[in-house]
Amino acid sequence: MQQFSACQAIVCDLDGTLYLESGPIPGAKDFLNRVCESGRQLYYFTNNTSVSRQKWIDKLATLDFPASPEQLITSADCAEAYLRRHSLYPTIYLVGNTELKKEFVSRGFICLSEEQALASEPLAVVLSFDTELSYQKICICYELILRDIPYIATHPDKLCPVTRTTFKPDVGSFIALFETATDGRRPIIVGKPTMEAVRFISDKANVARHKIAFIGDRLYTDIRMATTSGMVSVLVLSGETTASMLEDTMDQPLIVVNSVADLIKYL
Ligand SMILES: [Mg+2]
Repeated sequence: MQQFSACQAIVCDLDGTLYLESGPIPGAKDFLNRVCESGRQLYYFTNNTSVSRQKWIDKLATLDFPASPEQLITSADCAEAYLRRHSLYPTIYLVGNTELKKEFVSRGFICLSEEQALASEPLAVVLSFDTELSYQKICICYELILRDIPYIATHPDKLCPVTRTTFKPDVGSFIALFETATDGRRPIIVGKPTMEAVRFISDKANVARHKIAFIGDRLYTDIRMATTSGMVSVLVLSGETTASMLEDTMDQPLIVVNSVADLIKYL
C-alpha cells in the first residue's frame, strides 16, 4: 500500500470500479472526494466510446462525483491524439454512434458519411463502440480495410458490461469479425491497455508513472496497462473479476481490494 499512498495521480476506470448499473459503489463518492482533498490529481478513464464526453460528464455529475471535462479520458481521446500525431487528419471514416461523430466533427474532423466513404479517400478508418452498427457500415469498413487505409480501433474490450453478470458485444468482437473477413487484418488499438493510452495519461498527469495509480476491475485492460507501464495497479473486486479469474491470470495486480472504499484510509 505504500506505493499507492505515494501516488500523486489517481486514475479510475468507471464501470465496475465506481458504479454498477444499480448505482454508485458504496463509498465511491467519499473515496473520490478524499483523493481531491489530499491534493492528488484525479482522472477518470473509460474505453466506452458509445457515448460522448458530455454524456460521461453528465453521468458523473448525476452520481455526485467530482468531475470536470479535463478529468475525463476516453479511448476516443486517445484515437484523436493518435490520428493527429500521425497526420491522419481531418478526413476519416468513423464507425461510430451519431453522438461520437458529432464530437469528432466539433474537434475539426470530417467524418465521411456512408454514402461518401467509398467514393472518397479517408485518411483512416476508425472503429469504435458503435451500437448503431449496420450491415452497410460493416461492408464499408471491410472495403476500406482491404484498401490498406490506416485502421484504428478505440479499444479491445470483447464485451461491455450491462450488469455485473450480463454483457453485450463490444469493439473486440467487432475486430474479430473484420479479422475473419479480411483474412487476418488487425487494427492499431489506442485505448486501455495500450501504450497510446499510457502516453495520454502520462502527458496529462505529468508525473512519473510509478506515481500514478490505475484502479480498475478488468484484468486484460485496466490491470494489464498498469502493470506493463509501471503504474501502480489496483484491482477492485466490485466489477467483473472474480477470485478464480484472478488465480488464473498472468495479469497480476500489485494491490487487490474489494472496492475503492477500502482505499480511503491510505490517502
Ligand atoms: Mg470496468
